[in-house]
Amino acid sequence: MADIDQDYEWKLIVGGEEISTSAHYDIIDPNTTGIVGKAPEATVQQTLQAAAAAKEALPKWKALSMDERCTYIAKAADALEVASAEWVDLVQAETGATMRIAKTMQVAGAFIDRFRYYSKSFEMNQPLTPVYSAASALAPESLITGNVIRQPAGVVACITPYNFPLVNVAGKIAPALAMGNTVIIKPAPQDPLAVIKLGEVLNSIFPPGVVNVIVGSSPDIGAALVDSSDVNMISFTGSSMVGAKIMESGGKTMKRLLMELGGKGALIMTEDCDIQSAVGGIASVWGFHSGQICTAPTRVICHKSIYEETVATLKATSEFMTVGDAREEGTLVGPVITETHRDRVESFIQSGIDDGAEVIVGGERPDRDGYFIAPTLLAGCNPDMHVVKEEAFGPVVVVMSHDGDEHAVELANDSHYGLFSYVYAGNTTRAYDIAQKLESGNVALNTIAPHMYAPFGGFKMSGVGRDRGRWGLEAYSEVQAINWPS
Ligand code: NAD
Repeated sequence: MADIDQDYEWKLIVGGEEISTSAHYDIIDPNTTGIVGKAPEATVQQTLQAAAAAKEALPKWKALSMDERCTYIAKAADALEVASAEWVDLVQAETGATMRIAKTMQVAGAFIDRFRYYSKSFEMNQPLTPVYSAASALAPESLITGNVIRQPAGVVACITPYNFPLVNVAGKIAPALAMGNTVIIKPAPQDPLAVIKLGEVLNSIFPPGVVNVIVGSSPDIGAALVDSSDVNMISFTGSSMVGAKIMESGGKTMKRLLMELGGKGALIMTEDCDIQSAVGGIASVWGFHSGQICTAPTRVICHKSIYEETVATLKATSEFMTVGDAREEGTLVGPVITETHRDRVESFIQSGIDDGAEVIVGGERPDRDGYFIAPTLLAGCNPDMHVVKEEAFGPVVVVMSHDGDEHAVELANDSHYGLFSYVYAGNTTRAYDIAQKLESGNVALNTIAPHMYAPFGGFKMSGVGRDRGRWGLEAYSEVQAINWPS
């Protein structure tokens, strides 16, 4: 395996120290099924030590000004830009991303941008308008003014999913650190190695205990962070099912929660939309990290008058979706993360077929090693099908038809998810009108490109809270109001 040191001892980072573990587990390359490395297996005790270390480091770190903390973040962005250039092979191997995605989206791009964005200080305070307070048994007559300030939430455990390991972690820790919190990073068990590298770089820059990294294959270590009274906030990105468990157990210690959960992105096409452009967007479900992305437009809701043409155009486009060795430059569709996940997606496709969906393309397992699923298109679907209701997190598109904008909105909202939706219409005014009726935290019109600094998060089972941009800083803070007589 190119440029990956098989003998490297991967360690945890706790209180500024790199800590060995007595046990390790294998990280498997989903593309080749070979072993990428042996990840450290943290114990619950080591996890709680990380929480205690983050708590100890908190007072000094939060006492710095935001400007001072941002200086550390800027230094981290510079150091990571240099160091991460060496991590492409590692990230490619542990995530199974195609080379194109590994180079441009996993290691560069959003990952470094998140640090750069939060390396500039924001003004967070807001003055209160003075109000007249009449004389009472409580206090004499006065004019009361004040200020609303932001305090850090405290110790934040950042629990992340496997799809974009570095980007997911960077999106949490950069705003959390800028806001004055200390963090424990708990990456997904499937691909934590580059995150450990990230931790090593940050540990050489930030004061001891400000950034801690805990890795393990068991859900128990994430659960231990949720239960720990040393942890004030859980910033979680992952499935709605695990998110719901965390909300329930986090309630015992009144955790502050940021929940970025699953999605089943609706993509509405009106009869006057640009079909080619919409199809180009939908094809990203196949060609962008094999559909392992929460915002993917997987649920196509197409006007009946353009339904046949849309399905035919999607079919023709799927023929360009080369499935192959993820390390080869020309490959567009790589594997999904694990054998278990491949089996889950396959049974999900089978449930659609059993429920009467028509397989237009895909559905079968490609004849190659690794955890591959052919780009799959299921037409003739209806909202009662499991394959329409649930998230596949794989290269699977379902298509339904609608008979007008109102019906399209009804179908789009007939989902317990509400993360990211898309509207393709003949003009932006019509698309905007439809967007306002969607139960979805984000809506993109005639594009699948997101606004990177817009508030990001979901309605319904897709989450609670928002991050990115200024909302990222707000998410990792407590609101404090201070008042005095003017
Ligand atoms: P997952 O929910 O299985 O795991 C996410 C993380 O939670 C992992 O680190 C895991 O170890 C940890 N975990 C598992 N059980 C836990 C418990 N009981 N307590 C605490 N932590 C626990 O998700 P996944 O399979 O890694 O990722 C796929 C899911 O993530 C999809 O549903 C996808 O939509 C979602 N996702 C959402 C966003 C978003 O921004 N909304 C982004 C990426 C992925």
